[in-house]
Amino acid sequence: MATSTIRVPEGERIQAQDGVITTPDQPIIGFIEGDGTGPDIWRASKHIFDEAVEHCYGGKRRIAWMELLAGEKANETCGSYLPEETLQAIRDYVVAIKGPLTTPVGGGFRSLNVTMRQELDLFACVRPVRHFEGVPSPVLHPEYVDMVIFRENTEDVYAGMELKKGSEAAIKLRDFCEKEYGWKIRPDAGIGVKPISKANSKRLIRAALHFALKHKRKSVTIVHKGNIMKHTEGAFRRWGYQMVREEFADVAVVADDIDGDLPADKLIVKDTIADNFLQQILTRPREFDVVATMNLNGDYISDALAAQVGGIGIAPGANINYETGIAVFEATHGTAPKYAGKDKVNPSSVVLSGVMMFDHLGWNEVSEAIIKAITKTYQSKTVTYDFARLMDGANLVKCSEFAQAVVANLGG
Ligand code: NAP
Repeated sequence: MATSTIRVPEGERIQAQDGVITTPDQPIIGFIEGDGTGPDIWRASKHIFDEAVEHCYGGKRRIAWMELLAGEKANETCGSYLPEETLQAIRDYVVAIKGPLTTPVGGGFRSLNVTMRQELDLFACVRPVRHFEGVPSPVLHPEYVDMVIFRENTEDVYAGMELKKGSEAAIKLRDFCEKEYGWKIRPDAGIGVKPISKANSKRLIRAALHFALKHKRKSVTIVHKGNIMKHTEGAFRRWGYQMVREEFADVAVVADDIDGDLPADKLIVKDTIADNFLQQILTRPREFDVVATMNLNGDYISDALAAQVGGIGIAPGANINYETGIAVFEATHGTAPKYAGKDKVNPSSVVLSGVMMFDHLGWNEVSEAIIKAITKTYQSKTVTYDFARLMDGANLVKCSEFAQAVVANLGG
């Protein structure tokens, strides 16, 4: 039997019941440091997390970090890029945070991130996008962007159901499609499948509505390309509206159902076609609040929005199953391999993912303290290279020095 690489620290398990979690004072939380720049970013982020917890609770609470292996480190240690024991530990201990993991383009192994989201059924990828004062941006009013993206995480062409050009399976599927449906697919085509199910669409849009109601947001916009892909993206919109009418009639309305002024006391649910959405987030960002969309659209949209508020170095994210409470928090960006080991990149994306994690744990004092300290750090123009190159008079610091500056600002 293979020996476990997991060393369980002294602490207690987080309990989850019907999606509601109970956090002990010394929760065991799994971390995956990640590939490329992951270790630099993780060291900096952990420093901030531990100091912020100490600052808020003075030793009464602390996190018992438990390393979980994935990516290159896992492959070197135990010959698997995503060991089953890592997935099982996330199920057992409920909450984990991770750095980015490498995925080769056009070959090699399947994305570890996608596999992890599917295996753990982390159906909602939640990505808040807002501006922090002092952060350079390519748009005139980055402060107008304040959105939370709910991206379906398990389906769509993104699920990886693809057949290679010329493979026996691709030829078989092509012949079947031509014979049964008269679809003409070139013989030199790779083929991908785009499943969008009613159940998974509804649970994602439901989670977006619950979030919007809990956080007193004004609207939920369903973003889709349903004018073209009627039975997948169009159905996502239709099922979403149907669910709002059936399950949320007392608290939310579908904008299209209202003749005249929209009610001020109800959550508004509307929709926008994806290409139009991408131009309107630049021209009229204040019209969007919570956004619910499918996997591929969500991927593009979150990077485009992140660019408006300063780039992917500052874009946090969480993969959450709201029905079990299991959650993995992670940066939006990748491994940025050219900067690996240089103590150079911006750790804010993982730090702000940690802020989301502390909110999930119910340790809101910690998230508020980190937000205050990081805002103060940006305002003082103490920034890593990515922001420094866009600013006049920046105090350029390394990744670890940025963390030290944030910790110094925890005090006030
Ligand atoms: P990337 O790693 O996100 O890097 C693209 C560019 O974004 C970098 O060259 C850098 O821009 C900037 N950047 C990324 N992280 C930054 C940070 N922390 N601070 C400041 N700037 C940052 O994207 P990629 O090069 O396309 O992907 C590399 C690998 O990461 C691939 O294997 C990919 O599959 C993987 N990936 C993993 C995840 C994940 O684990 N969730 C997500 C996306 C990609 P400049 O060059 O302008 O400085």
